[in-house]
Amino acid sequence: MLEGTLLSDTNNFRRILLSIADGVYMTDRNRRIIFWNRACEEITGFSAEYTLGHKCSDNILNHVDANGNPLCENDLCPLHQCMVKGAPGDKPVLVRAKRRDGSRVIVEVSVAPIIGDNGEVIGGIEVFRDVTLLQELKETKASFLSAVTHDLKAPLTVIKGFLELVLAGDAGSLNETQKDFLGSALEECDRLNKLLGDLSDLARFEATEFSFSPRPVDIVPLLRQAQHLFAIEAEQKRLELKVDLPQSLCVAGDRDRLYQVITNLVSNAIKYTEKGFVHLSAEVSGDKAIISVRDSGIGMSREEHGKIFDQFYRVDNPATRKVGGTGIGLSIVKKIVDMHNGEITVQSEPGQGSIFQISLPLCEKEPGGLT
Ligand code: ADP
Repeated sequence: MLEGTLLSDTNNFRRILLSIADGVYMTDRNRRIIFWNRACEEITGFSAEYTLGHKCSDNILNHVDANGNPLCENDLCPLHQCMVKGAPGDKPVLVRAKRRDGSRVIVEVSVAPIIGDNGEVIGGIEVFRDVTLLQELKETKASFLSAVTHDLKAPLTVIKGFLELVLAGDAGSLNETQKDFLGSALEECDRLNKLLGDLSDLARFEATEFSFSPRPVDIVPLLRQAQHLFAIEAEQKRLELKVDLPQSLCVAGDRDRLYQVITNLVSNAIKYTEKGFVHLSAEVSGDKAIISVRDSGIGMSREEHGKIFDQFYRVDNPATRKVGGTGIGLSIVKKIVDMHNGEITVQSEPGQGSIFQISLPLCEKEPGGLT
């Protein structure tokens, strides 16, 4: 009954939208504001009276990316992009905005076009939520993690250095038992170092999650760079490190983060392979770039496929335990791939090796814009 009354009347729909706790506003095709709810007023400090009829790019939303670059006046505006595409934004995006009083707010923005009876785009709708507190907490956690890992790394490097000197005989000759004990201590230092490295990667990722501004990136040089980086490690384990790459392959993304993804996968492939090969390849499939990292290593059962991308998850078996790790790497890889609107999959069987495959949307090379 109540439902019937509430939903039967356009005015009631208006009231519902006005009362929603998230900011909801609508524009016409030219981004002129035609609806502005109360939460918009609270979050931005601009009243409906002031904003209606203005363009949302007229110093009202003041969305900027993490580097302070304005998003409203140009094609980077999420609302403008979805109206041009005629499709909703892929997922909510985090942007910084400026309130009327000049203070900063971080908002999570979802956008969609409004489609008319004839199928044409007649406007746009944006829903945004104030996530300032949550984001600040994340940033505090990230800087704490970063400070702790940094402060722990320095003494660890000194301990490792002295152990190496003593093991090298610089403090006098050692018997076999002494060498064994010091060798174990050195191995534990390396393990701790790796753990701190993973934690600082996590901190770095969380601190910069926000500052994502995609640019055209050729992934082929990144794959070649990874091949060089791991050449010695592969050789030490007598693994064949092969590549099969085209001239170039361009995706829209962040060069450093994509390199982090590639090095993580290659490092795992080498870590979890005792003999055989690690193979890196890249190819085009439809409108996607496909990066594959194959190995002939220990593999894993199907039940593990969905879990290994969870933070701190490690497959629990003697082979994995022997190698050591934190279960952080693949969770970061997954987050980075998601940020790029890509997908990561794994095919693997115990003892049969693994294939990690990433698909990323292809993009055009921009003259002078390739990184
Ligand atoms: P870590 O290697 O530090 O444990 P990751 O997040 O990188 O953490 O990987 C999570 C788990 O996935 C690993 O512990 C391991 O069990 C499994 N894994 C990852 N890569 C491979 C691989 N190439 N072959 C077999 N198992 C793998």
